[in-house]
Amino acid sequence: MDLSYIINELGEDREHYFNAIAPPIIQTSNFRFNKVDELRAAFADEMSTYLYSRGLNPTVDILRKKLAALDEAEDCLVFNNGAAAIFAAVLANVKTGDHIVSVSKPYSWVQRMFDVILPRFGITTTYVDGRKTENYIAATKPNTTFYYLESPNSWDFAMQDIKAVASYAKTKNIITLIDNSYCTPLYQQPLKMGIDMTMQTATKYIGGHSDTLGGVLCSTHAMIKKIFDSEYLNIGSGIQPFNAWLLIRGLRTLPVRLERINQTTKQVVEFVKQHPAVSRIIYPFDEGFEQYALAKKQMKEAPGLFSFYLKANSRQQIVTFCESLQHIQMAVSWGGHESLLLPKCAGIKNEEFDASNPEHQLVRLYVGLEEAAYLINDLKQAFEKAELGRS
Ligand SMILES: *Cc1c(COP(=O)(O)O)cnc(C)c1O
Repeated sequence: MDLSYIINELGEDREHYFNAIAPPIIQTSNFRFNKVDELRAAFADEMSTYLYSRGLNPTVDILRKKLAALDEAEDCLVFNNGAAAIFAAVLANVKTGDHIVSVSKPYSWVQRMFDVILPRFGITTTYVDGRKTENYIAATKPNTTFYYLESPNSWDFAMQDIKAVASYAKTKNIITLIDNSYCTPLYQQPLKMGIDMTMQTATKYIGGHSDTLGGVLCSTHAMIKKIFDSEYLNIGSGIQPFNAWLLIRGLRTLPVRLERINQTTKQVVEFVKQHPAVSRIIYPFDEGFEQYALAKKQMKEAPGLFSFYLKANSRQQIVTFCESLQHIQMAVSWGGHESLLLPKCAGIKNEEFDASNPEHQLVRLYVGLEEAAYLINDLKQAFEKAELGRS
């Protein structure tokens, strides 16, 4: 299917809404029935028709069709945020006594689910360095039923060999779920590499404007129906029609935004990499990246997010750098129009900060839609104010 068709036409039924180009926001909680038998059929299978907006909603369905097509998936569910998509996908596929193997340092709320919530139900998790497929294999026990992947990681960009992990999982009937938020399906399609379920936070690149949250889960019809009939309906974490409409709008410009972000990122990476304030950068498409060959093999591109280590002698120098930026804003999240910076030291107690530990010097930069020179000049003046990179 052509990308342009998916984005501009697929799922849209314009003759049903006055030929409006933009789809309507069907802001309704419930849907009317004329026949008792039709209502009965809806009760029997809520995925077959519109009954109540905790289940299906027409505005959300337009988005579902487009997002499934982008992943070349049979079907898709859209949640109120990415964390909810992961929670439902995991919960639907594990039971008491099961064991999960997860990549180390998954998204923070995923780690919390594995460490705090699932153990209450007798489900345990082992974290492995996913850069080596052997580690997944070695951690697998007779009761392992689920593999969790995130490739690349959104801080250190550690990757898994997706095909290799997926193909081993298949031999053991282990279900696989990957967080594909960094690449989006435009730059990496894990289902085609053998993964069972792929998710991405739509809050980031799909929304693209930092004005809504959303989470996407793609898989087979059977898996999506299983999750819809239980966790999706029961937890009630499906996306609301207005937020779905914002994501449809975000999708219209997704390819062009990613293209622009790619170009700018490469220029900003080149600047940061050679700057004396910086000891090392981590960016999957940098030739010096330790998994560069794998990145080139399984990803089409590496969009706006990268990290770098400052050469600071004190915490104060990092603080001054962050607080001196005039245009790049300090905030969590990424994928929007605006460039963002996040220092690792914000998560470390002041008294525990250790200037000799490179991890404490790590800063993550998200490159948005601004001009490259605008961002480079901002970084340059902040490095200077912080007296970073002076010999
Ligand atoms: C933000 C994020 C999530 C969670 O998405 P929300 O929409 O914020 O719930 C999951 N994975 C990664 C890598 C993220 O960056």
